[in-house]
Amino acid sequence: MTAELKSYQMFVAGDWCEAEAGECFASTNPATEEDWAKIPAASEADVNRAVLAAHTAFEEGPWPRTSPTERGKKLRQLADLIKPKAEALGRTETIDTGKLFRETRWQANNVAAMYEFYGGLADKVNGYVPPLAPDQNLMYVTHEPVGVVAAIVPWNTQIQLAANKVGPALAAGNSVVVKASEHASAAMLDFAAIVAELDLPPGTFNVITGLGEPCGRTLTAHPHVDRISFTGGIETARRIIPSTANNIAKLSLELGGKSPVVVFDDADLESAVNGVLAGIFGASGQSCAAGSRLILQAGIYDEMLGHLKARAVEIVVGDPLAEATQMGPLATLAQRERAERIVGLSLDQGARLVTGGGRPSALSKGWYYEPTILECDDQSLPCVQTELFAPILSVLRFNDEAEAVALANGTEFAFAGGVFTRDSARGIRMARAIRAGRIWVNTYRRSSVLTPFGGFRNSGYGREAGIDAIRDFTETKGTMIEVSGEPMADPFIMG
Ligand code: NAD
Repeated sequence: MTAELKSYQMFVAGDWCEAEAGECFASTNPATEEDWAKIPAASEADVNRAVLAAHTAFEEGPWPRTSPTERGKKLRQLADLIKPKAEALGRTETIDTGKLFRETRWQANNVAAMYEFYGGLADKVNGYVPPLAPDQNLMYVTHEPVGVVAAIVPWNTQIQLAANKVGPALAAGNSVVVKASEHASAAMLDFAAIVAELDLPPGTFNVITGLGEPCGRTLTAHPHVDRISFTGGIETARRIIPSTANNIAKLSLELGGKSPVVVFDDADLESAVNGVLAGIFGASGQSCAAGSRLILQAGIYDEMLGHLKARAVEIVVGDPLAEATQMGPLATLAQRERAERIVGLSLDQGARLVTGGGRPSALSKGWYYEPTILECDDQSLPCVQTELFAPILSVLRFNDEAEAVALANGTEFAFAGGVFTRDSARGIRMARAIRAGRIWVNTYRRSSVLTPFGGFRNSGYGREAGIDAIRDFTETKGTMIEVSGEPMADPFIMG
């Protein structure tokens, strides 16, 4: 590891620290393939220290005992602190992940808006009084913070994904340990530096960095962790679920997708083309909601595919920091190698290449992959069934609505789906029939912190964002009070 790498530290118990054993790893810029930052690699001991800090802050510190209105104010202050730093945060995220600077800058500003929203929710968590009979005891139901929240995030859109966990968790009065992605820890630590300016009680907010093993595993299995909010891949989720047998932590899983976009013969084709391009080539296809399966009706199949090919070859691929760039590199080398392998397998099994399918010849450095379109006659091809997290679109043909629904629901995933049609009744029928947590009709990839987000089936369980998000970080308590004024009767005398 060379001296010119920028050195980062973790944020634990209100202080900056190295990993106890001094271990670290390099972060690599996907556009240049050069290491640029040095990140601490947390060991089991480091994780234990962070969880203990969060646990102590929760058990003894002022944050859970602060009035919800005051907690809300603090989160709105955080939003104000983020705004002037949004550009710098976005730049770090771009260098770390290869995601377009235009997008990371916008998202960092959006993150400020998200903390404003969650700050606003802090004092809206009303309890209720169940309508027991007047001669029965009085019960009131309240919502209390759950305790220590472990927030585990992937590398794509990390600050924004973390906001959907940290925002409602802090608003509800919990303490939080964020585990940054090993592929993009720097932006999370830059964000921690902004939170540090807030002067939250020490241990209330912590960021640790490290690999899935041992850092992620130790965190999710820790006996003091009460709630795990995970965003990432299905294989990692399968390792986390058994961990919760140790701590009985409540778990939510935001996993991957293989989302269908169904375009009917009667659709506004220009709008549909834009929707499909946004769905699969936005963020180089590295989005849980990527519209990676295009299901086209036979009557417009050739015309639509022609338009898509013409637009795909025009996409400006290159330096993600440049304003004119439309698609950056993939975030990791492994990601590109996997995409290449699955595309190769699919071509061997009968998929037909419409465009792309390789590394852009003009770019000798960086983990770039061409915008790629594959025609697929068979729903079982690997490129149709596998989440690729890359700019690769699989195209299938259908004749009638029933066939479109069967194709749309034909993978293990059920994260999102899109429908393009001018027939509004059909749009509603399709929205009902597609099994997924988010459906877009005549649009795609739009979202807001006001709207709940999450998948069905192997795309996970639990919902993030929206007005109910804060309740998801609380426990419900019922308190029953004797109101008749009578002493409690002897339990062994019946009647
Ligand atoms: P990943 O599952 O490899 O890693 C996610 C996080 O889990 C990382 O911080 C990683 O270090 C950690 N981790 C790894 N092993 C662990 C373990 N044993 N215990 C606990 N934590 C562990 O995912 P990735 O490759 O970084 O991200 C891509 C995946 O994330 C895709 O599947 C994508 O669809 C999904 N994703 C989902 C959403 C959503 O909102 N549903 C959003 C973005 C990305």
